[in-house]
Amino acid sequence: MSEQFEAILITRDEKKNQAVAHVELTEDELMPGDVTVAVAASTVNYKDGLAITGKSPVVRRFPMIPGIDFAGTVTRSSHPEWKEGDEVILNGWGVGETHYGGFAGRARVSGDWLLPLPDGMSMREAMAVGTAGYTAMLAVMALERHGVLPDLGPVIVTGATGGVGSVAIALLAALGYEVTASTGRISEEAYLRELGAKEIVAREALSGPSRPLGKELWAGGIDAVGSHTLANVLSMTCYGGAVAACGLAQGMDLPATVAPFILRGVSLLGIDSVMAPKPLRMEAWSRLASLLDPAKLMAISQTVGLKDVLSAADDIVGGRVRGRLIVDL
Ligand code: NDP
Repeated sequence: MSEQFEAILITRDEKKNQAVAHVELTEDELMPGDVTVAVAASTVNYKDGLAITGKSPVVRRFPMIPGIDFAGTVTRSSHPEWKEGDEVILNGWGVGETHYGGFAGRARVSGDWLLPLPDGMSMREAMAVGTAGYTAMLAVMALERHGVLPDLGPVIVTGATGGVGSVAIALLAALGYEVTASTGRISEEAYLRELGAKEIVAREALSGPSRPLGKELWAGGIDAVGSHTLANVLSMTCYGGAVAACGLAQGMDLPATVAPFILRGVSLLGIDSVMAPKPLRMEAWSRLASLLDPAKLMAISQTVGLKDVLSAADDIVGGRVRGRLIVDL
């Protein structure tokens, strides 16, 4: 019989009541795939919080090992690109949603979903970035493609103390942007300024119903919050600017008007990390490795064990996590 490893397992009964347990499994119980990985680290992302608490239908196959990302070492491979001993990372592709994920000592996945551990990054650093940080990079790259460059003026980041927000601020500051951070945790002002934010805006200033057009304040934005907040950010974006939308911490709705689009030429840029094509992922991870200061990355991260993942899931959905949570396997 193959060796046992620890895992978090989500199950559901006939009445669709969800249960989450810390269990021991063997490799024989993993789902099919052409590469097996000894997982060294994973992370708790907002989506993992939704999956474990059952607050949103993230998990679409039961039972499920949650964990939408991981870093580890290949132990077995029949995929042409990977061999035993290779250090790899994975984000998305339905892992932790429809395919067993990273909250386990072993993962078996398609080799097509894996990327090499970026040069110069440790596995812990890669997971300090995790899906949240990689999504922040995709959002920055989308703004750049749209021509929202540092000389155009300030850029706002919402959900600033969260995972996407923290990494987005660090990246934008490293690239020379003037960053405004919107947060519900004004007590974290020093943390946000340390990351590179120049201005701090209280969450309440943006979380209520928006006017069709507001004062033009920002050349662009990275929004992890959605709902009224995104509507307000759009209405306050300068002529020709753009907002990269990647999250729904306030809500999935978008109670906005078309005024910013048709009267100011503002663009709304959608960011999806899960199915992003491989060349884009490679570019994002290579830029993350070169732009992020490892000391800053560790300063925004806390490490938890696999057993702590359940309470961490409650905390992240409750908006009580600052920065990033690494799960040490
Ligand atoms: P976090 O929980 O770490 O950060 C979210 C932040 O949003 C919180 O820290 C808080 O920041 C703010 N927030 C929380 N609740 C509310 C609320 N009710 N109203 C306004 N602001 C709120 O999550 P992540 O950074 O990991 O993810 C952020 C969002 O991005 C999530 O919705 C997630 O699902 C999404 N996401 C999307 C991806 C994609 O592919 N598109 C990939 C990764 C994440 P503060 O206290 O500073 O205000």
